Amino acid sequence: MTEKLIAKVISDLALDKTFDYLMPEELRGDIAVGSQVKVPFGRSERLGFVLRLSDHSEYPAHRLKSIIALSENRTRLTENLLKLGLWMAEYYCCSQEQAVRCLLPGAVRSGRIHTRKENFHYLADREGAERFIAENEGKKRFSTRVELLKNFLSDFEYSSSEFLEKFQKNTAVLAPLVKAGLIKTESRAVERGIFGSSELVASSPRPPTEEQAAVLNKFDAMLEQGGGVMLLHGVTNSGKTEVYMQAVEKVRRLGKGAIVLVPEISLTPQTVRRFRARFGDRLSVLHSALSDGERFDQWNKIDRGEADIVVGARSALFAPIHNLGLIVVDEEHESSYKQSETPRYHARDVAVVRGKIESAVVILGSATPSAESVENARSGKYTLCEMKNKVSCSVEPRVRIIDMRLCSAPAAAGGDSGAGGNTGNENTGPGRMGSIFSPLLIESVNDRLRRGEQSILFYNLRGYARTFGCELCQYEAHCPDCSVKLVYSRRNQTLNCHWCGHSETAPSKCPVCGNPEIRYSGSGTERIENIAAAVFPGARICRMDSDTMRRAEDYENALDDFRRGATDILIGTQMIAKGLHFPNVTLVGILNADQSLNQPDFRAAERTYQLITQVAGRAGRGDTPGEVLIQSYNPENEVISAAAKGDFEAFQQYDFEVRKILKYPPFSHLILLHFESENEQFAADYAMAVAENLKPYLNNDIKMAGPMPAPVERIKGKFRYQIVLRGENMRYLRRALRYMVLNTPEGGKVSFFIDVDAQDMR
Ligand code: ADP
Ligand code: ZN
Repeated sequence: MTEKLIAKVISDLALDKTFDYLMPEELRGDIAVGSQVKVPFGRSERLGFVLRLSDHSEYPAHRLKSIIALSENRTRLTENLLKLGLWMAEYYCCSQEQAVRCLLPGAVRSGRIHTRKENFHYLADREGAERFIAENEGKKRFSTRVELLKNFLSDFEYSSSEFLEKFQKNTAVLAPLVKAGLIKTESRAVERGIFGSSELVASSPRPPTEEQAAVLNKFDAMLEQGGGVMLLHGVTNSGKTEVYMQAVEKVRRLGKGAIVLVPEISLTPQTVRRFRARFGDRLSVLHSALSDGERFDQWNKIDRGEADIVVGARSALFAPIHNLGLIVVDEEHESSYKQSETPRYHARDVAVVRGKIESAVVILGSATPSAESVENARSGKYTLCEMKNKVSCSVEPRVRIIDMRLCSAPAAAGGDSGAGGNTGNENTGPGRMGSIFSPLLIESVNDRLRRGEQSILFYNLRGYARTFGCELCQYEAHCPDCSVKLVYSRRNQTLNCHWCGHSETAPSKCPVCGNPEIRYSGSGTERIENIAAAVFPGARICRMDSDTMRRAEDYENALDDFRRGATDILIGTQMIAKGLHFPNVTLVGILNADQSLNQPDFRAAERTYQLITQVAGRAGRGDTPGEVLIQSYNPENEVISAAAKGDFEAFQQYDFEVRKILKYPPFSHLILLHFESENEQFAADYAMAVAENLKPYLNNDIKMAGPMPAPVERIKGKFRYQIVLRGENMRYLRRALRYMVLNTPEGGKVSFFIDVDAQDMR
């Protein structure tokens, strides 16, 4: 066999192409597949990754250049991760470089972050120190030295920062002791800590319930078989998280590592805390608030095997665990697992592929599993496990649907206009409230206030917030750059675009006809908060939405207040639906259950079911039974009534029927093609040309819809066109699409992207 002297390297240009380099003699032992290397490129140097080693090149030997060196940090991707990256490039129609890029945090890839070093001062000569103290104790001139040495005798060593903190002195005072050989200084790598100094009480596994034991037995069997995917369908509070932790413990005992994905780490602080309490130092947590340095340290710590359990959001899936035994995807149905920029991967699906490559078990957990996963379980691809009972014998919450048609005048049901124009006076008379708070809900909240219990009021904002307009000339305030209406904020007296962030001062009269009675209509959480304040005088109310919770601390503070009981009523959007546990919450009101149902998207029913289930799960987690009130104008609707009953099967049956007839996922694969341009005609023409090129691929199986303007036709000044492709076997089509998208010139007049398994159809 010839020796492999050629390395095929992808560089950090977004090219779908490897370049051949010679491996210089002195580096041959060090360079391997996955190594990050420095290579000459044109007249400059670049960083790249070795994708393959080979014994020949198509280029003549004299034209080949040599690899300059390994990257400074000697970063190396595991072969399994590289394999995963190459699969992603094919499946999600992106370049190999784009896929490999997302396997590594920027902080690691860029090579600009390095290990942090700190000086440590330690006692080098104990006897000498004791002698020094004995000889000089009481001499004024030596008092500082004696004092310091005494401390070193008991603490042995201090880092420079500890030293400063403890003695309020610079380490320069150590010079004479260093000179005398009593103290030595060395520079050591230190980790940038991510957990602060908060201590946690260690927790140990609980004896599993019968249902948990059955799931863990299945898990053992899968582990023994060398992998597989489990769909763990367990109601909220059935003990799924405990199962994850015990499964992690099992793989750890085999000397393997585990990755636990959660939808959004800032929204699941309790899960993180539980994992920390169980696994302590072996745990690494990756979240978006880490600094580059912290991320760099965590990545290397995992790579060195010092942490073998990783909890994190989407990108934690690529944590460099070398011997992976388990991947958990908690709340597997969550759409935040889909990345919204290239490569547009779905972490749940990529987790399944990584599991296969690494022979690891993958657990997909949810109280409301996605249609895709349910179908995969039904067809036998995944192993279905169910947990139908709550762990604690807490009383089931009582769920009722309130028929809002009986509560308000029909006019109020649609757009109820707030009077008062830009002075912002809220009309909170009973006629207006009726469309937002039913009498039963008001009475129930008042009950809680009297008993000192807490309520959560959930308001789904999606596509519905208060807009600003003129009744005389029908003027409506629109974003100048997006085809959506601006949303009025009373607090700031501004009109804001929730798509691009555009903000302007609210005009005091209609900019078209001059009418001073300009009005807002619709309801936002801010308005609900104001009405609630009027309806529940004296109650302590907190609103939680993307406007009030701009920073991570805002969120933590609001939750802390609520946990401490300093808030009586929490009003919020999707944000409050996530896995929060508050024992004193005995009432959950869903103000507008219909809102998400009316979205023009085939996943609207699924989202509504998930949302109601999730929000309702917040009620009655303590010893007090909870109550859930769902306000709806469609109380007979299959989705809402199934959600109210917690009847997942009934919902599934209904949802699957619709999807089957329309051939939507999971009964087909869906690929969304997206075109954007500042010039509408360019976008339309480009889409048309692509559609023309795709015609040969269409058949009985593969169907194309469009080109057509996207549901939101314009965002940030760009016109948007779409093509939707659906079919069961898309492999060849995908290959063609990949070729097309990778050959679309960068920086051209039209940007074209492909969203395989699109979740968001906007
Ligand atoms: P889920 O993730 O399904 O919502 P959790 O794992 O959070 O459920 O469990 C719900 C509650 O029950 C938690 O407070 C947890 O500590 C507790 N719990 C879970 N499993 C057990 C068990 N086997 N024995 C006692 N308590 C348990
Ligand atoms: Zn905008």
